[in-house]
Amino acid sequence: MANLDKQIVLDALDTIADPVTGKGLTAAGLVRGLVLSSGRVGFMLEVPHADVTRFGPVRVAAEALLAGLPGIEKAQVVLTAETEAPKSEASGHVRPETKAKLSPQAADQGKPKAPVATARPDHVRHVVVVGSGKGGVGKSTVSLNLALGLKRLGLRVGWLDADIYGPSAPVMLGITTPPTFDDNKHMVPPVAFGLKVNSVGFLVDADQAMIWRGPMASQALTQLLTQTAWGSDETPLDVLIVDLPPGTGDVQLTLTQKTLIDGAVVVSTPQDMALIDARRAVTLFGKTGTKVLGVVENMAYFLGADGTAIEIFGRGGARKMAEGLNLPFLGEVPLDPALRQASDDAAPLQTGVMAERFDEMAKALWGQLTS
Ligand code: ADP
Repeated sequence: MANLDKQIVLDALDTIADPVTGKGLTAAGLVRGLVLSSGRVGFMLEVPHADVTRFGPVRVAAEALLAGLPGIEKAQVVLTAETEAPKSEASGHVRPETKAKLSPQAADQGKPKAPVATARPDHVRHVVVVGSGKGGVGKSTVSLNLALGLKRLGLRVGWLDADIYGPSAPVMLGITTPPTFDDNKHMVPPVAFGLKVNSVGFLVDADQAMIWRGPMASQALTQLLTQTAWGSDETPLDVLIVDLPPGTGDVQLTLTQKTLIDGAVVVSTPQDMALIDARRAVTLFGKTGTKVLGVVENMAYFLGADGTAIEIFGRGGARKMAEGLNLPFLGEVPLDPALRQASDDAAPLQTGVMAERFDEMAKALWGQLTS
């Protein structure tokens, strides 16, 4: 990146006008969290709630401009709405800097605070997060199939793919149309297989790990959670399943701390290393006062052609962990190539033995949630 530094990027962005003030984006203070590394550039375009729609074309223009800069292979601009200002300041176009100065909470902290959700999403009765200590244990697979299982129980269900490191909903469900915006500037989620679905993959390319970390990522996720039109007064969601990013870092902590969540499911494979990480996830939920509604053991065993269970990772580890920690065990999911194929083909398994397994787990989860 010898010939491209941040100043060049900022100058370039300043040639695009902020439709609210008429200033360049940089001069208007709208370029936040600029990241520039190995052929990638990106930033967060954080605008007042009321202006999100007006900034759609600005986002597109900024992304196109950045993509055309020398040495840039990938440009990403995430458009997010600011969280509401305190009531007395809630008029129109208050810039984030001004709000940080004025907000009493921010003043207490002595530094600008990451904007966070403090309430549950509207029209959602229960919010359940699905977490794992590390990636690749099948958290997305399990969370999606649990959501589908809950749907098959006759419930109204949403699935939020909040996995910033590898959003998978667009691929797993074959969704090609991102959400539109309603009159309240809320995202209207696409419906797939009866689930209302939103995904961080609609904000960034699904094949690319998100370049934002920490507060930026937390904010993008809390906004996906709280600014999606999940339901209405007449038809609220019974349950929203949130596929968390793997791990136990700041993003997961912030999301579970600041959002009213009804419970968590922890997914683990049976082997020791995965279980150590899964325990960390349980501890994280404990710290934030999130009730663990159950543990799922994924890739518990492989069923051979002759029907023998081959216990590749040592079956039963997650079940034992759940028992040891006095947590409900929701069930085990074998390694099944059909399950992976179903994800790759965007054709989730809705009938058969595997679907029935998820039905049982969904029943157990719903029982925990409503008991
Ligand atoms: P995570 O969300 O934990 O990163 P994924 O759900 O994306 O994990 O799963 C990782 C890979 O493993 C995917 O290709 C998925 O289809 C596959 N997979 C997950 N669970 C199973 C299973 N029980 N049997 C076969 N493949 C699985």
